[in-house]
Amino acid sequence: MKQLLILSGKGGTGKTTIASAFIKLAEARAYADCDVDAPNLHLISGWNSEPASSDFYGLPIAELSTDLCIQCDSCRQHCRFDAISFDEEYKVNTYACEGCGVCEYVCPVGAIKMVPAVSGELMLYSGADEAFSTAQLRMGSGTSGLLVTEVKNRMKSAAPDAKFAIIDGSPGIGCPVIASISGVDMVLVVAEPSISGISDMERIIDTAAKFGTKTAVCVNKFDTNLENTKKIEDFCAKHDLPFVGTIPFDSDAVKAINDGLTIVDMDCASGRAVRKIYSAVMELLFEGGEPEISAVGGDEQKGGCMPCAEGTEGGCTSCATITEGACTPCVGITDVQNCGYNPLKELLNKTEEQKNDENSCCK
Ligand code: SF4
Ligand code: SF4
Repeated sequence: MKQLLILSGKGGTGKTTIASAFIKLAEARAYADCDVDAPNLHLISGWNSEPASSDFYGLPIAELSTDLCIQCDSCRQHCRFDAISFDEEYKVNTYACEGCGVCEYVCPVGAIKMVPAVSGELMLYSGADEAFSTAQLRMGSGTSGLLVTEVKNRMKSAAPDAKFAIIDGSPGIGCPVIASISGVDMVLVVAEPSISGISDMERIIDTAAKFGTKTAVCVNKFDTNLENTKKIEDFCAKHDLPFVGTIPFDSDAVKAINDGLTIVDMDCASGRAVRKIYSAVMELLFEGGEPEISAVGGDEQKGGCMPCAEGTEGGCTSCATITEGACTPCVGITDVQNCGYNPLKELLNKTEEQKNDENSCCK
């Protein structure tokens, strides 16, 4: 299973908007929301059924028995996280407890035990040959990396035959991001053209580089600051990172999300831009091998395949390099007959006899 992870250095860059568009274009059979602090991919993923939910147990926390406690104060003194307090009796603050187990170790009478604690809720939407895995971290829990790993594992288990998976990652560079990157084939970084956005982008690229993961960059709302967009492009060129495109600020994108749609469900500037980025990312992800999924998205487009959406009449620029029966972006499309590029259809509809005749050196 090839895994594409979509990340951003901070929240609010449009990462989930792009992930949901990619899921739609790829007709993905396996996808996950690893932003366990604030998951929201489920809001636009179109599932009407209820997910199968289960508790997630992270690190254990301390449980103190006041019946056994002899009030020696040792646990409170040794807790580095100030999670134990005394007010007539000793108490553990479960939000502050980090599960280190020191209190259990030092208690002379065995009044403290480490017990499993629910630190989040796992949710799995599954249908015929399709799975969407997500989770919500419980407030105050610090085991987000473990939860992210479990989200990914459940996605893979629920769709074992899926050839391709899209993962919406967490913002930032913390524990859940590290857990998200582990094992994926490629990271798409969504950058924002601001000073802080560039700094965040550099940090997330650095993080991905530590894993040796193939990384590409795109810029969302690029037209809000062209100078910074250029800086991001230059940064990518300098560090030999594929720069796969830009997306304009688009009020229609907000409307789409508020209507529970992806930006490729409607004809809008951001949707058209994302389609191009999707194609570029698929080429990078599957370079050296045939795409095993739609390379241009599942929707039949007016006037041709996806690149044709902005092409001239009669075919997109990409189609100019048609080789055998399909232009490069079309490779992988299940039914190339659906391509609106008429010359391509003609070629496909030609009989073997006609083709042989044209290829004959005697004609
Ligand atoms: S397990 Fe560690 S953090 Fe939790 S109360 Fe005990 S000493 Fe403090
Ligand atoms: S170390 Fe054990 S006995 Fe001492 S105060 Fe803590 S719980 Fe009570």
